Amino acid sequence: MSKRDYYEVLGVERGADQKEIKKAYRRLAQKFHPDRNPDDETSAEKFREVSEAYEILSDNEKRAAYDQFGHAGVDGQAGGFGGGGFGGAGAGGFSDIFGDVFGDIFGGAGGGRRNPNAPQRGSDLRYNLEINLEEAVAGTNVDIRVPRLTECNHCHGGGAEPGTSKKSCPTCNGIGQVRMQQGFFAVQQACPTCHGRGEVVDTPCRKCHGEGRIQETRTLAVKIPAGVDTGDRIRLNGEGEAGINGGPAGDLYVQVMIKAHPIFERDGRDLYCEVPINFVDATLGGELEVPTLEGRVKLKIPAETQSGKLFRLRGKGVKPVRGGAPGDLMCKVVLETPVNLNDDQKDLLRKFQDSLDGTGNKHSPRKSGWFDGVKKFFEDMRP
Ligand SMILES: [Zn+2]
Ligand SMILES: [Zn+2]
Repeated sequence: MSKRDYYEVLGVERGADQKEIKKAYRRLAQKFHPDRNPDDETSAEKFREVSEAYEILSDNEKRAAYDQFGHAGVDGQAGGFGGGGFGGAGAGGFSDIFGDVFGDIFGGAGGGRRNPNAPQRGSDLRYNLEINLEEAVAGTNVDIRVPRLTECNHCHGGGAEPGTSKKSCPTCNGIGQVRMQQGFFAVQQACPTCHGRGEVVDTPCRKCHGEGRIQETRTLAVKIPAGVDTGDRIRLNGEGEAGINGGPAGDLYVQVMIKAHPIFERDGRDLYCEVPINFVDATLGGELEVPTLEGRVKLKIPAETQSGKLFRLRGKGVKPVRGGAPGDLMCKVVLETPVNLNDDQKDLLRKFQDSLDGTGNKHSPRKSGWFDGVKKFFEDMRP
């Protein structure tokens, strides 16, 4: 039996995009749907034909093969439409694309959208990892304990107690799908008894209770590269949940969070810290010891340093994980008011203050600027 050209079947141009192909299929499938044309063999045949054409043309890989080699390129790939006919053993393939196109009509009621016997990739997992700043900057190795679903080693994922067998599901007769009337159409849905597997076990595996997967906590060694920052993710291939029906495992994403540090604040590749300074050193100049991630270093402070001034220590920041030069360490000096002075010390300060009297604000650059600002503010207010 020679097959018609798939594009001709759907009545679309060879260059048609997926939207046009879907639209054409939708129109034709509704027209020839067996529930609309009961006991009409011609319609049933047409329905199979458009469904097959759609299955090939809606899949970019299969479509490319068809475009290049014709029907020979996709032979046997359009499953589920021959043989048993609609509603028969091949219905799994039908409900696949049917649910895909018509799912919105039924408000997502098409529980049988996805072939439940097909291999499914396991879920990705996320693990939130808190590390301190030193570990993030230098890189580290951590062991994490990850609870996850893994294939049951007692039944090897089959769900049946070893030595016992599975039997065909009595509800759906092994098809995995049941037909539900949804208004105008009959819809295929995953069988509620066997969850679409088509089989039920006589004696469920005693370890996983028939699930085929068990919860297990694994310890994984994770290498944290130097320079990571909050929000970075490290992917561990295949360390997520086990797949279903022989599908591949998902991935595990380790999401990095850096704990607050008592001294440093991080902003990308730069670090910030505050260093207290007494007013004599600030006035006369001096040398401060400031912390860096590699230890203490000396920082020269010039005379007449004001509180809040930032000093930049080049290259003492963080080397970014994605490469590039290390950032800087920004030290903010904060002037500290002396406390717990005895009477003699207080007296010295008073004498010192007296010595400044009558000299205006020439020793207080900020204060004089401030007074000028206030003066101008009141002048501007005058009508
Ligand atoms: Zn088991
Ligand atoms: Zn069933």
